[in-house]
Amino acid sequence: MKLFYNAQFHTIKEEEDIVSAVLVDDKGYIKETFIQTPEIENIEKIDLKKDFVYPGFIDTHTHSFEGGLYTLNANLESVTCLSEVFEILSKTKPISGKIFAFHFDENNVEEKRFPTITELDNISPNIPLILRRVDGHSCVINSKAAKMIDWEKPLPSTFDGHLFGRANGKASNWFHRDLTDEAILKSYQQAANIALQNGHTVIHTMIGDAYSDIKHYKLIKENLHLLPIEFVLYPQITDVDVALEIGSPRIGGCVLADGSIGSHSAALLEPYSDKPETSGILYRSNDFWQNFVQRAHKNNLQVAVHCIGDAAISQILSCYENVQREDPKDLKHMIIHNELTSDDILDKMKRANVSAIMQPMFDRLWAGKNGLYEKRLGVKRTSNTTRLASVYNRNILLTGSSDWYITNINALMGIDAATRIHNEKEQLTPYQAIEIYTKNAAILSGDQNRFGTIEKGKLANFVCLKENILVSKSIKDIPISSVIIKGIQNSI
Ligand SMILES: [Zn+2]
Ligand SMILES: [Zn+2]
Repeated sequence: MKLFYNAQFHTIKEEEDIVSAVLVDDKGYIKETFIQTPEIENIEKIDLKKDFVYPGFIDTHTHSFEGGLYTLNANLESVTCLSEVFEILSKTKPISGKIFAFHFDENNVEEKRFPTITELDNISPNIPLILRRVDGHSCVINSKAAKMIDWEKPLPSTFDGHLFGRANGKASNWFHRDLTDEAILKSYQQAANIALQNGHTVIHTMIGDAYSDIKHYKLIKENLHLLPIEFVLYPQITDVDVALEIGSPRIGGCVLADGSIGSHSAALLEPYSDKPETSGILYRSNDFWQNFVQRAHKNNLQVAVHCIGDAAISQILSCYENVQREDPKDLKHMIIHNELTSDDILDKMKRANVSAIMQPMFDRLWAGKNGLYEKRLGVKRTSNTTRLASVYNRNILLTGSSDWYITNINALMGIDAATRIHNEKEQLTPYQAIEIYTKNAAILSGDQNRFGTIEKGKLANFVCLKENILVSKSIKDIPISSVIIKGIQNSI
């Protein structure tokens, strides 16, 4: 037994519910919470030095493998011109014989364009190289990679290295394939360490990339005990039999109903403002999704699908509505992203008992005045993106996430962004924003009896901060002093 004391523990059972000491048993579960620190003899006492303590953060949607792998490779997040890109790439060491670059945004470089295949060939003539756009929905590859990838149909003779849609998926899948077990585990290990450093005690992660590759799933499941935080796994496949065979309670993740707003591939009900000839792409037919959702629902699998645009959300939502109408179950099927919605869509989500897994940082990065969303969608539709308060106030289960590697895995940044949504009507209070990264996240995976709040009988998973989130002027900058997992303190 040990007693954590001298702190303000925000239990997140209810707002204003605060205790000052927590007794934890040897298995890492909370034995008791105390308003006033008790006198207990002969136990270990841990002074938390007036920290503000919250349930450990939970990120409910990450691509941790890519997140880990890419942080071991070339990060193009802060480049301002292409020569900086080339300099970083020329110094990058390959992993398992491949070079990965991520977080490239053509809008952030002076030249306002992607590198060409010739430019990439000059840097890496002999080692396959992929440079992924910040949203993951397009990429550029070099000639070596173009030769090695087993394409579904031959590349056009005018191929300039730039890939979208299914070809983009094919290329990134090829790059992620055939890595050694060691490189795969190292990527997840790296991911877990970064998540822990940023205050997370549990993260949800996609495994594989929709191409029926379940090798990682088995590998990670067998090695979960080696990782410092808990992972909730999503086999990223649409084959229900495979999900059942590996014993997963859920299926999907970022399996794509559509693409992204940045790449003009998010499926919209009305055309793009800056490209009126297109409304984006529904990647698969209604029949495909209906069959998939029906089979998964029948077999009690929780379904997760990536939907950005209102047309994609409507497509998947009608499948969820159908199965719920025929056979109501509390599976909390997920709309991942849920980026552009109307009141009508949200009312339907509530009725169909669907959950929304959203990324407050998307708003921070792309929804501001003259930002990417305004350019693509116009002012009016932009105000209908990342509608956190509208979702929350309808009592739809809302959880927060980073979509890491798309944005950094950092719940404090997410909480901060949720309280500062550009459309003020959609802002959450700091308390609500904490809920979506703790209590609500635990409910999503059915783990509400194990973690998510600071309560007797739950795991002692805490994040200890130097400042109170509820009154902080800059939540994203609050220093983390330690992270406690199952009663064991990790200093940061
Ligand atoms: Zn996605
Ligand atoms: Zn994703």
